[in-house]
Amino acid sequence: MEDKKELLRNLPKVDECISNLSAEFENTIPMMLVKLVVQECIDTERQRILRNDDGYRGRSDEDWQYSFRCALQKKLQSNLRRVINGTGVVIHTNLGRSLLSQNATHALAEAGSHYTNLEYNLETGKRGSRYNLVEGIICELTGAEAALVVNNNAAAVLLVLETLANNKEAIVSRGQLVEIGGSFRIPDVMKKSGAKLIEVGATNRTHLKDYEDAISDETALLLKVHTSNFRMIGFTSEVPVEEMVALARKNGLVVMEDLGSGCLIDLSSFGLPKEPTVQEVINAGVDVVTFSGDKLLGGPQAGIIAGKREVIEKVKKNPLNRALRIDKFTLASLENILRNYYDTNTALKNIPTLAMLTQGADLMKNRGRRILRRIEKKISPVCAVRLVPVVSRVGGGAMPEYNLASWAIELKPRHIGLNVLEKEFRKLTVPIIGRIENEGLLIDLRTVLEDEIVELASLILGFFGAEKAFQ
Ligand SMILES: *Cc1c(COP(=O)(O)O)cnc(C)c1O
Repeated sequence: MEDKKELLRNLPKVDECISNLSAEFENTIPMMLVKLVVQECIDTERQRILRNDDGYRGRSDEDWQYSFRCALQKKLQSNLRRVINGTGVVIHTNLGRSLLSQNATHALAEAGSHYTNLEYNLETGKRGSRYNLVEGIICELTGAEAALVVNNNAAAVLLVLETLANNKEAIVSRGQLVEIGGSFRIPDVMKKSGAKLIEVGATNRTHLKDYEDAISDETALLLKVHTSNFRMIGFTSEVPVEEMVALARKNGLVVMEDLGSGCLIDLSSFGLPKEPTVQEVINAGVDVVTFSGDKLLGGPQAGIIAGKREVIEKVKKNPLNRALRIDKFTLASLENILRNYYDTNTALKNIPTLAMLTQGADLMKNRGRRILRRIEKKISPVCAVRLVPVVSRVGGGAMPEYNLASWAIELKPRHIGLNVLEKEFRKLTVPIIGRIENEGLLIDLRTVLEDEIVELASLILGFFGAEKAFQ
């Protein structure tokens, strides 16, 4: 007890620490940050004393200085930072999904630093609509009559359901009531939209008759959901969307499809699995389709709604739309990305997501060789390193079980644990995110960019040069 009081009394004085640190950094660091850091460090220590951590005997001046310095360094760093994606997951939701091309990034930067005609009609000199900027292009590319873009696909689904099925019934197959990443579940989104969910069929099989039997006076629409991140195999059946459309027509209903990824190119011609394209869905007669901008489309975060004019006009008039609206940065980069799709080869070359998905494994092997050449001899006393064949993933809920052949750098440190290595790599100036597999840390080179090769090599070298600290 006495011990505790003594330890608390010996905590450094906040004001003294602040003035010492401010003097040391000659006021190059905002006073507010210095203050926050000192308070946080001392507070953490106070909590520790109060918790009675075993064997704790206070800390030296040097320890304090070290803590302050580390905490300051952390505070001065951006919270949102660039990382090297060594996971091989191309559309990695936790690492920001699709990357923009240089051109699209330029368009975004220009829209940010200059005035634009965001809502200004240059012909009439009057107020314009931000939605017109990409609507025409989406229609030309997909064959839809009209289109609208909102914040993301979850917003698109919510908005369309709220517009068409609020207080009405929407019929969905039990096999399609999916959860996509932690917070997006079809049944939950439907509830929020005010639509009453009518589940039909069994988990593995749904037939046209199931939809037919469920139709009532309260029915507003038939909903089809792309199951994205999971596949059912074995004794299964889904109703083809054409049959849903025919049934809806007969009953004066609307068919909506949540396509998830939003593919505009049939990637099966490039060796990938077949995903339904937006054009095919529109062509099948679906009234309204929703899809993400940053999954297989390879653009910025956005939710695209395309379909029949009559339906889209209703969605545009929904006041909720204003709360979900897309910003100018997204519009600028989305337009730029979409324009690539007028020519398939241009799209495959210029859109990073598509380029990464269609590149052959030779390219990754070549990248690996270039990295090995730079690091192998130098780090081999402390870490075994070699090039190994691996499997990368598409990600973003698309093509869940598809294996993309790739190559990875495999690191097996001799003096530290793999988990330590994995953790330390996340703390580097540019964090390297890899994965542990077969007793090695793998850095899959499919998702490492060409201009990151030399940097990756020197980050690894730098780390092992300083490795002594962890022995
Ligand atoms: C990814 C996905 C969503 C959510 O899209 P976001 O753009 O992440 O909001 C909705 N539905 C399906 C089927 C999806 O795959």
